[in-house]
Amino acid sequence: MVSIERFLGEPGHIIDGVRVAASDGGTLPVEDPATGEVFASIAAGTPADVDRAVASARAAFRDGRWSRLPGIERGRILTRLAALIRDHAEELAELETRDTGHPIGDARFDVADTAHHFEYYAGLAGKSVGQAHQLANGQLLNVVHVPAGVVGAINPWNFPIAGAGLKGGPILASGNSMVMKPSNLTSLSTLAVAELAIEAGLPPGVFNVVTGSGSVVGGAIARHPDVDIVSFTGGTETGMQVMRDRADVGRRVQLELGGKSPTIVFEDADLDEAVPAAAFGIFMNQGQNCSAGSRILVQASIHDRFVEALTARAAAIRVLPPFDPRAQQGALISGEHLAKVDGWVQRAVADGARVTTGGRRLTDAPFAGGHFYPPTVLADVTPDAAVFQEEVFGPVVVVVPFTDEAEAIALANATRYGLAASVWSADIRRAMRVGAAIDTGFLWINTINSHPIEAPFGGVKDSGFGREEGLAAIENYMVQRSIIVGGDRFVDPYAD
Ligand code: NDP
Repeated sequence: MVSIERFLGEPGHIIDGVRVAASDGGTLPVEDPATGEVFASIAAGTPADVDRAVASARAAFRDGRWSRLPGIERGRILTRLAALIRDHAEELAELETRDTGHPIGDARFDVADTAHHFEYYAGLAGKSVGQAHQLANGQLLNVVHVPAGVVGAINPWNFPIAGAGLKGGPILASGNSMVMKPSNLTSLSTLAVAELAIEAGLPPGVFNVVTGSGSVVGGAIARHPDVDIVSFTGGTETGMQVMRDRADVGRRVQLELGGKSPTIVFEDADLDEAVPAAAFGIFMNQGQNCSAGSRILVQASIHDRFVEALTARAAAIRVLPPFDPRAQQGALISGEHLAKVDGWVQRAVADGARVTTGGRRLTDAPFAGGHFYPPTVLADVTPDAAVFQEEVFGPVVVVVPFTDEAEAIALANATRYGLAASVWSADIRRAMRVGAAIDTGFLWINTINSHPIEAPFGGVKDSGFGREEGLAAIENYMVQRSIIVGGDRFVDPYAD
């Protein structure tokens, strides 16, 4: 183990490049989800703290210390940040595991992914290309892309450090200043990344972090008229509230919300591949993943065989304390969240579902004190059941049979969400035909959980709108400005 002390520090926000306490000195405890132990504290932000951070971001944006730097210089600093993240990879991974309960191997992946985001977007800084039109009367129209200004980035607790890179990379590369609000459950790695950003040479005021409760700090960001864009990732109901708050001030919002993504398996699929893929689709990150394949739709002819194989695969996943290098699944984020996940399972059982594996929290050693729930498979679920319709956000999957393509499509589209879908078939035309008919922003064919950085990510229906990742994320955080240059001499329109 390396020391994570360097990144614990005094509880505080990062505003104008320095750590500052909450305006009223308030703090919140930080719990280790694997043990229940409180090991740190963070500042409990106030609306005054948000005002201060937004003012700092606005001042930085206005004086051009970042927004008007040549793109290549912004890119150089973001590349340095990525290098510092890699230099501190082990400390950051251990900090993340302590804060989130993620297996240490997963946390290492997330840290590398964060660096990767800053590297990728460093290469795109200053490369937005506009348009030029030669108009009548000698006028010239230029359409240029300029940074939006101050961006409020609200992140959830499921992938905290990765979220800092996923939003921070494109927001900063495109020349904006930002105020980032991590979940109060998982703020430590975002604070660490912001501190490394300052070490890398990012000017003060460009990357501010305000920690604290969602409704207080997140609400103040969403309602702030001097925040030009809010980029929100989290639950659908919270996202709707953020959109209402944005409507009150008439400012932009982009929402990446929940999902109930289908994994569709046809009888001709190679089950040696499709079963572990479907398991990974749901159980990765303890099922706390917006694009988790939480509904498996299986052709009736192979349903029983599939359930048996999936049950065996799920039961063999190694749930262990997250610092154990063999851990494949760690702890859920909190006791409150675990109770919700278990509530979904018990309600499903009351509604007639059959638990084929899991279904009860783990409390014996080495799990005592922590929030551990095993991979859980539910069969005999009907499409009208709440557990088929709503996001559980835990290691719980339902398996439902279908007879033909039409029924597979109808079941896939029978929820209010539309974030991701995965189709498995040896017949590529069928897979593409079915995939094309699914309401989704992200479609996998004969693969799952692949999130290349180049692929714009986001949903349809109640899963939100706007796209992150890839080139689309740069567009997300810029505005188009039309510049018309006069050609022929301006003629007085009031002259007779
Ligand atoms: P939330 O949607 O509440 O949290 C997302 C972020 O929004 C957090 O930073 C949170 O802060 C903040 N927030 C909370 N309330 C407000 C508000 N009124 N205005 C602005 N920001 C706010 O997620 P939960 O933790 O409550 O999880 C609820 C459910 O949402 C989960 O069970 C899951 O179904 C879904 N979810 C989906 C995610 C996704 O990636 N699509 C991610 C996380 C959750 P804080 O955490 O400090 O309260």
